[in-house]
Amino acid sequence: MASITLQNIVKEYDDGFPAVNDVSIDIEDGEFVILVGPSGCGKSTLLRMIVGLEDITSGDLLIGGDRVNDKPPRERNLAMVFQNYALYPHLSVFENIAFPMRLAKGKFTQEQVKEKVERAAGMLELTEHLQRKPANLSGGQRQRVAMGRAIVRDANAFLFDEPLSNLDAKLRGQMRAEISQLQRSLNTTSVYVTHDQTEAMTLGDRVAVLKKGVLQQIASPRELYEQPANLFVAGFIGSPSMNFLPGTVSEGSTGSTVLSTPLGDIELPEQVAAAGREKEIVLAGIRPEFFEEASQVEESRRGRGSVFSAELSHVEWLGNEQYGYVRYQNDPRVADALANLAADMDADELRTQLVVALDAMSRIRGGDTAELWVDTRRIHLFDPATGENLT
Ligand code: ATP
Repeated sequence: MASITLQNIVKEYDDGFPAVNDVSIDIEDGEFVILVGPSGCGKSTLLRMIVGLEDITSGDLLIGGDRVNDKPPRERNLAMVFQNYALYPHLSVFENIAFPMRLAKGKFTQEQVKEKVERAAGMLELTEHLQRKPANLSGGQRQRVAMGRAIVRDANAFLFDEPLSNLDAKLRGQMRAEISQLQRSLNTTSVYVTHDQTEAMTLGDRVAVLKKGVLQQIASPRELYEQPANLFVAGFIGSPSMNFLPGTVSEGSTGSTVLSTPLGDIELPEQVAAAGREKEIVLAGIRPEFFEEASQVEESRRGRGSVFSAELSHVEWLGNEQYGYVRYQNDPRVADALANLAADMDADELRTQLVVALDAMSRIRGGDTAELWVDTRRIHLFDPATGENLT
């Protein structure tokens, strides 16, 4: 096992545009790091540079402390697990797993091959299937064969390139749990590329969010969720995504500070208000679950938030949760910032509707006017010009 260090890594393809732009990440020995971002953000390019399938334009790549920029892939000893598994259809599961050991001619005795393959198969619950051909396995089992092949190599690290994107939603969930458990029990340094923020949040020790080749933030899933560095990370992480409500911060009549929004005034606690006071306009980032129906909020908590009325255009009932939608007119001064954000995130609509999480038992319906309480201590204020999180 080994650490992987990326120092100011740049990749320019022939068109001269940097597909990866000055990315620095320290991946510790045994750590599980996810590279996530929308299509074209450079995550696959970064992975291919680590494994040695792509030249690095500038910067240094270290594996276990050694600079490997100019080393061919086989000398880096990294095991890649691909989306399409790259299994050999004519070989049995046993031989597919044994393949890297057979390639290292003469290095392993027949006995050693058997022992290693059987041990890997045991860990992956493939023991009963060792004589089968890949065609006779489920998608999840094939995935595990591909991982078995990585395990027997005693690689410095595992690199995963969207390994679950071919699977249906249910199997994807199962495999996510399996990969997570396996990585923890093997304690192998792992780098995992995905465009799926749920995978990123559930698998990684740390998650690196990329946009247009630039690292936006690298942090634990919890920190990304609770303290996103900018609008892009805030909007990308979380589902349904964070609401961005334009507003101006000013002193209210009773000495309090208020955020004036298209939905009315929201009273802000001082630590949040301080961040936006100097700005002409801010975007208030409010996650759907920061809202509650005011009638559900106990008296003791009520004072820690602010209440306003809003008409719900419709309500989506999903069994264990419901989401209410509130339409509003956007402020033309932030329209550009939001249009930019939406383009980056492939958002299907400009933000002119607020999504609020409602209690599963709530009887409220589309067309009703709701009294909504918002937990104001958890509001983030963003600069619409730079996207920076001011709070
Ligand atoms: P996806 O999820 O769609 O695979 P990605 O985030 O992995 O996207 P990359 O495949 O790394 O992104 O691509 C990053 C940028 O580099 C894109 O703008 C892409 O068009 C460009 N690019 C990728 N490969 C090449 C290549 N061989 N030649 C020229 N440009 C390339």
